[in-house]
Amino acid sequence: MDNVFRYQEGELFCEDVAVRDIAKQVGTPFFLYSSFAFCSRLNDYVKAFSDHPHLVCFAVKSNSNLAVLNLMANQGTGADIVSGGELFRALRSGFPAERIVYSGVGKTVPEIREAIAAGILMFNVESMQELEEISRQAMLLGKRARISFRVNPDVNPQTHPYISTGLRKNKFGMPVDMALEAYKIAKGMDGIDIIGIDCHIGSQLTDLSPFVDALERVKSLLVDLDSLGIRLDYIDIGGGLGIRYHEESAPSPGEYVRAILDHMDGLRHKIIIEPGRSIAGNAGILVTSVINIKDTGTKRFVIVDAAMNDLARPSLYEAYHAIHPVCMEGNAAQVAVDIVGPICESGDFLARDRLLPRVKKGDLLSVFSAGAYGFTMSSNYNSRPRAAEVMVRGKEFAVVRARETYDDLIKGEKIPDWTCKGS
Ligand SMILES: *Cc1c(COP(=O)(O)O)cnc(C)c1O
Repeated sequence: MDNVFRYQEGELFCEDVAVRDIAKQVGTPFFLYSSFAFCSRLNDYVKAFSDHPHLVCFAVKSNSNLAVLNLMANQGTGADIVSGGELFRALRSGFPAERIVYSGVGKTVPEIREAIAAGILMFNVESMQELEEISRQAMLLGKRARISFRVNPDVNPQTHPYISTGLRKNKFGMPVDMALEAYKIAKGMDGIDIIGIDCHIGSQLTDLSPFVDALERVKSLLVDLDSLGIRLDYIDIGGGLGIRYHEESAPSPGEYVRAILDHMDGLRHKIIIEPGRSIAGNAGILVTSVINIKDTGTKRFVIVDAAMNDLARPSLYEAYHAIHPVCMEGNAAQVAVDIVGPICESGDFLARDRLLPRVKKGDLLSVFSAGAYGFTMSSNYNSRPRAAEVMVRGKEFAVVRARETYDDLIKGEKIPDWTCKGS
């Protein structure tokens, strides 16, 4: 997996395609995905479950390109969605509805209706108010809705506060001590079938113990539910396994699954996991060109044609992404630079105080680990058309999302037939 993007004689390849050749045809910036990397990470998860009943639901928000989703759907995975738009993408890309789980803290009435009508596997329910709405809409549609409650196990995932979700102070899920009551009420509710329990404690976790702690809390709830005659088929433990961006070491999918199975104590519930980053993160890079070098005397800036609108993570979380030239020239001396985009914000950087071999205008740079929360968090800020997305399979590559055009930028905008009042 780590060598899907690798250097051969100083030149970066994705599988068997030279990145430079793609840049020549597609232009920059673009996201580049390895289909092999996606599939092999997914297989690591599936293999580790062995004969334990399971459903891997790929977290669509990490990378929602139709080609990526289709690749996942064809391997028999499910999808974890957090919006009606993601439901639309998941269905369009080939996921059967019965393999779709719907998480998210604010599901609207139209979104709930769409998901019930489609016949998704289950809703991960965040609150009693939400459950009542799901029940009401199921009745109106003459259908039944399957649900899990998302419980908040109040464990500290030791990750960035913006991506930590399983603490009591976070907005997600319901406290464990309220869940029992919630299940009791749900049991008698019209149109509702209780099938599982769910938790998701955060993202980019590089230690397995918070996952195990969360599972322990869930298991103790199962015992209490059992005594109420409520038996569940599914335990959904969410996503959140981290990846190596820099110097952190993250457990492998296999280690993660084994830790979970080791703590199941013979329980045979079907386990759902919702990995996003750990499948997609290192399956993609962002390729960008140097526009200019600017030396202010105190600092040297490498200005590139990708920016915070393309890859928000450095600006948003001060996240580290490895950045290297696509073509390495011998043992070029390294200099400390800031790698920045053209956007009118000082927060617009991809890396700060980073050692990089001397580069010049027109050189290509690769921003690594950009396969998850890259394109999906991108925007049109500064009226920048969004980057192209390209997928490689072996010796072939395909543009799986065309670079946006200026016309795409103004799609749907209208100038009303008004002038300023009084003029
Ligand atoms: C974001 C999210 C995921 C995926 O998280 P990763 O860290 O990308 O694995 C899974 N489940 C839920 C409910 C989420 O919000």
